[in-house]
Amino acid sequence: MITLHQVTKHYGSVMSLDDVSLEISAGEIVVIQGPSGSGKTTLLRLIAGLETPTRGQISIAGEQVSTPSGVTPAHTRGIGLVFQRSALWPHMTVVQNIRFAMHELSIPHTADRLEQLLEDMMLKKLANRYPNQLSGGEARRVALARALSNNPHRLLLDEPLTSLDPEQAARMLDLILNYADIQQATLLYVTHISDEANQVGGRLIRLQTGRVVEA
Ligand code: ADP
Ligand code: MG
Repeated sequence: MITLHQVTKHYGSVMSLDDVSLEISAGEIVVIQGPSGSGKTTLLRLIAGLETPTRGQISIAGEQVSTPSGVTPAHTRGIGLVFQRSALWPHMTVVQNIRFAMHELSIPHTADRLEQLLEDMMLKKLANRYPNQLSGGEARRVALARALSNNPHRLLLDEPLTSLDPEQAARMLDLILNYADIQQATLLYVTHISDEANQVGGRLIRLQTGRVVEA
């Protein structure tokens, strides 16, 4: 279970999230929808432990992980995160990008797991390319492989199909939903596109100017 209790986030004078309370069950699929600037990315970053709330608390699996006075480190939260832009390290190849993430997380059996990820994400032939030699869809698959490298129980995806052509988007969505199904992972899926929200299914949480208007 992921619980947010009266979470508010300010950036200076900008109120990015305003008194948000939510409960998300283990294994639940949740789509977070809302117009640009409504606080979707801020919500994911708070849950991931990349931001400190201005007010309120967040707990994961019964443990309090974020308060205004401190946050537990992102890598201890059992979370895989794919950013709106793929955010690959440009000076590393595909395989180095994934391996470095696993090293950072001290994941055992890296060689086997690495092979499996390359296979699952259809990246074997691209293993030694650099990010600037990849298409948008390929780069996004690397970002997903990196996010899945520690078998996270919780997968946070920030508009993961942005700027992919329909074929790439369909393939990426298949990989995501398949992973969530097999691992019984909690999926928090941000999109502002209704069609995409319908395809993902699950519960809809709607944000507007930092507030939950439907949950
Ligand atoms: P969304 O992902 O729904 O487009 P965001 O969570 O990115 O929305 O942003 C919500 C609001 O917070 C916006 O007004 C945005 O400009 C502001 N914001 C987000 N991140 C920052 C930041 N690092 N510094 C200042 N303002 C920010
Ligand atoms: Mg965003």
